Amino acid sequence: MNKNQAIKNLDEIITNIESARLSLDAHHIVQLVAISKYHTTDDVKTLYECGQRAFGENKVQDLKEKSEVLVDLPISWHFVGRLQTNKINQLIDLNPVLMHSLESIEMAEELDKRLKVKNKTMNCLLQINSAKEDTKAGVMPEVAVQTYQNIKGNFSNINLCGVMSIGAHTDDENIIKQSFKTTKEIFDLLKHDGATICSMGMSGDYKLAIELGSNLIRVGSAIFKEN
Ligand SMILES: *Cc1c(COP(=O)(O)O)cnc(C)c1O
Repeated sequence: MNKNQAIKNLDEIITNIESARLSLDAHHIVQLVAISKYHTTDDVKTLYECGQRAFGENKVQDLKEKSEVLVDLPISWHFVGRLQTNKINQLIDLNPVLMHSLESIEMAEELDKRLKVKNKTMNCLLQINSAKEDTKAGVMPEVAVQTYQNIKGNFSNINLCGVMSIGAHTDDENIIKQSFKTTKEIFDLLKHDGATICSMGMSGDYKLAIELGSNLIRVGSAIFKEN
């Protein structure tokens, strides 16, 4: 991806974010995380040079390799993928700014245990499977508030900052909307417990997600596209 293409992609996304957030509230601020999982460190660097600072990966090994190559750039690295137990220590050592995909009490327990050994903490989001899809990770919406409070109360080295969802996998906009609404309602309930981040919306549905209250979008293909 060349610089002109990166600027074009960023401009388009920023313009879309702007109109979606204004339709919700003039004071609604949205963070844009570029998901670089299918793209090279050169492309990450190009976007960085155009102003993008937050990037995300969904595999610990890729996060490690890319963050090491780009160590001289002050990038905020996010982790958005499924975490295997045998990769937890590696992830902790990479110091991600935010881990979006805490998917169960069991995972929280394992992560907290290893964080304590290393005397570290990690900012995390609880992933909610709001579309109730078998292929997706996350806790069911019915138990999300309880699970969040449980993790918050029992695992002191995990700093829970909010929730994350992937929109329903369908072309039916009403079903996607409903999945975002479900997550937003849970997020609102958790504000009393300190939740500040509602991570939802990807290339195909980020406008909708923002209109429904997302304040962090994870955009991959639309930010790295070539046309
Ligand atoms: C890949 C990925 C994204 C970005 O997807 P696009 O459709 O390419 O924007 C966002 N969130 C997660 C968890 C992902 O794995």
